[in-house]
Amino acid sequence: MDLAPLLFVKSRRKNRCLRHGIADDNWIRDLPPALSADELGIENYKWCPFCLHAAENALHIFVDCCYARQVWLGIAAWCKVLAFNPSDWAAPTSIRHWWIRFSDRCITLMGRNPSRAASSLFVLTLWSIWKERNNRIFNRLRRPAPCLISVIKADASLWGLVDTSGLGALVSGCDDVP
Ligand SMILES: [Zn+2]
Repeated sequence: MDLAPLLFVKSRRKNRCLRHGIADDNWIRDLPPALSADELGIENYKWCPFCLHAAENALHIFVDCCYARQVWLGIAAWCKVLAFNPSDWAAPTSIRHWWIRFSDRCITLMGRNPSRAASSLFVLTLWSIWKERNNRIFNRLRRPAPCLISVIKADASLWGLVDTSGLGALVSGCDDVP
């Protein structure tokens, strides 16, 4: 079910444009009760859509989940930057903490300018895991970690063509670049 048309109707009813209608969290209260997760057909919405064994939160789906760790490990093996390997992470207490530690670690390992390429790949991997999470919940599409790793590799190669961080140089030396 597509939420956008329903939100649009709600926002029109209050004589607001859609942009203003979703500017704060009030739109969530505007949703009719029938639009519960059950009504939307979203199963296990409280739980991690990857492992289904842990409550979903950002730290779990990006850092602690076995699926995410498999993806990060695959990217680490591919780009040969140790900071991507979960075994290199001290137990982070928040996404912000984890992200800062990752950036600092890359600067230490690679130097400030080359670390920008690793940051681009980090953001791409993060974004890809998030898209996979949404695909599982909203589109019922599931890709195993090796498949997502291949997608990230292909996307990184494309990003590298236009990205000014040095991502192209970082991934051009990797094996099996598409
Ligand atoms: Zn999980």
